[in-house]
Amino acid sequence: MEIFKGIPVSSGVVIARVFVLDDVHVRIPKRQVPAGAEQAEQVRLETALKASLEDLDAMRRHAEEELGAEAAKIFAFHQGMLADPSLVKLIAERITKERVTAEWAVQEQFRLLAKRFEAMADPAFRTKVDDLWDLERRVLRHLIGEHRSALSRLDQPAVIVASDLTPSQAATFPRSHVLGFCTDLGGPTSHTAIFARALDIPAVVGCETLTQAAEDGDPIIIDGDRGVAILHPDEKTLEEYSGYIKEAQAFALSLAELKDLGAVTTDGVEIELLGNIEFASEVRSVLEDGGAGVGLFRTEFLWLTSDHEPTEQEQFEEYRLCAELAGGKTMVLRTFDLGADKATQERAGTPERNPFLGLRSIRYCLQNLPLFKRQLRAMLRATASGPMKIMFPLVSNVMELRQAKMILRDVMEDLEDEGIAFDRETKIGMMVETPSAAIMVHSFCREVDFFSIGTNDLIQYTLAVDRTNERVSKLYSGADPAVLRLMKEVARTAKRFNIPVSCCGELAGDTQYTMLLLGLGLRTLSVTPSRIPYVKRVIRSVDIGKCERLARTACSFDSDRQVIAYLRDQARKVIPEESGGRSAG
Ligand code: PEP
Ligand code: MG
Repeated sequence: MEIFKGIPVSSGVVIARVFVLDDVHVRIPKRQVPAGAEQAEQVRLETALKASLEDLDAMRRHAEEELGAEAAKIFAFHQGMLADPSLVKLIAERITKERVTAEWAVQEQFRLLAKRFEAMADPAFRTKVDDLWDLERRVLRHLIGEHRSALSRLDQPAVIVASDLTPSQAATFPRSHVLGFCTDLGGPTSHTAIFARALDIPAVVGCETLTQAAEDGDPIIIDGDRGVAILHPDEKTLEEYSGYIKEAQAFALSLAELKDLGAVTTDGVEIELLGNIEFASEVRSVLEDGGAGVGLFRTEFLWLTSDHEPTEQEQFEEYRLCAELAGGKTMVLRTFDLGADKATQERAGTPERNPFLGLRSIRYCLQNLPLFKRQLRAMLRATASGPMKIMFPLVSNVMELRQAKMILRDVMEDLEDEGIAFDRETKIGMMVETPSAAIMVHSFCREVDFFSIGTNDLIQYTLAVDRTNERVSKLYSGADPAVLRLMKEVARTAKRFNIPVSCCGELAGDTQYTMLLLGLGLRTLSVTPSRIPYVKRVIRSVDIGKCERLARTACSFDSDRQVIAYLRDQARKVIPEESGGRSAG
């Protein structure tokens, strides 16, 4: 039994088998082909080799023209390797002798070769190992495509183990087969982690060396409450965890009865408890879990699951579906929050050096106006099907907000000219997720109809801690007094101007923070759908006076440790069943 400690990012426990999704080498499980099918595998191999050689030829010619003969040699070396009969012959022999798939034979032969190169005394060979992996990936891409295809080979329910996962990969998981995941890298509120919560599967990130130890098919326990992965668990551990799973299921079942009850405090204050979604179809989960609507639709996920920019019509249909499913309940559409860890870097020719501080979110949209306008048109058109609000993400100064609003007005005028129906009174809001927006909130109060505090980003920008980096994850804390002070300021000022303010960061779904948020004056919380019953349970157990006293005490501490210890202690008294702890920062 081997225990790996990581960062818990999505609660729950699962006992299952490992499926390794190796980022660099696209680990492929060994698969036998039926007798007689070897020839077809040989043809697949030949086709993939031919296509790879053609790629390389084009790249070599291009490099020669653009960069000169020296640079082109790299591709000539790759071509030479692929044309080398000793490598190709060995792959082909493996297919016939072992009756395996072409991709497995390619992988194994390249691995052997890489090992031999690595063991050479001459460093010239060792530096060629990366070229070998590059070449292997090229051939594999022609055989099985990118990761999605690798995942499509997952034909049994399993836990994904990977060095890292992008939100796009997580968003394209075959849902019925992915029971949980565990990565070597990653931080508590990376979008991959958020996606795990949306899928309601246990996940642990930052396990550092797990991929080196795990093999396909290994038994594993993922404990998303404590942040542990246990490889090859022994009998006693398995028994303990089976008991724990039963208890958690019983508690979840007991919360189901809250579904049709309001999110009302014991002194009768109504809290608007909403859900965060990534796809229109999730509106159903929000309502089934007892939510009063959607407080955040992360529309950029339409991109993440597509190989092209979603067209205006595709978007319109998705937003209209939201309106229909919501049936008149709250529905907040957020404009594309692309960039940073979402999509653009993976597809960019030259990735940014510092993407979280770069061209992301509203900045990206303002520099890509046709794309932004297409989205705004689709959103506005959908407002004719039901009430919807539009929200801009990551606004960091007033000019940016005014520019976004001006473009929205332009789009409204276009629609009017074209005689297309939409709701002219659509409410416009913004996220408060940068310290600059929080500090200047009074200026924004004159410009918007509502605010939503995005603590995932607010924490990272206030504390200068990358939300996706496991190395600094201990510094990422929503309980930091600086974060509390900003949230308090936003809530207080917005109240003075009579502007509603909600919280839609992961912290809002963490029951340790519920009383604090209510005590700071928030009356709307938007959380991952599966968290709705837990947060509702806390809301229905407390009164506002108690929450205000708690918030005052929490804001009097000067270290996050004191704050979190206090919040945990108070939450435990209200919802002891959640003492496993969740980590939203
Ligand atoms: C946030 O930053 O808190 C937020 C809700 O937005 P996202 O997690 O999509 O960046
Ligand atoms: Mg954000």
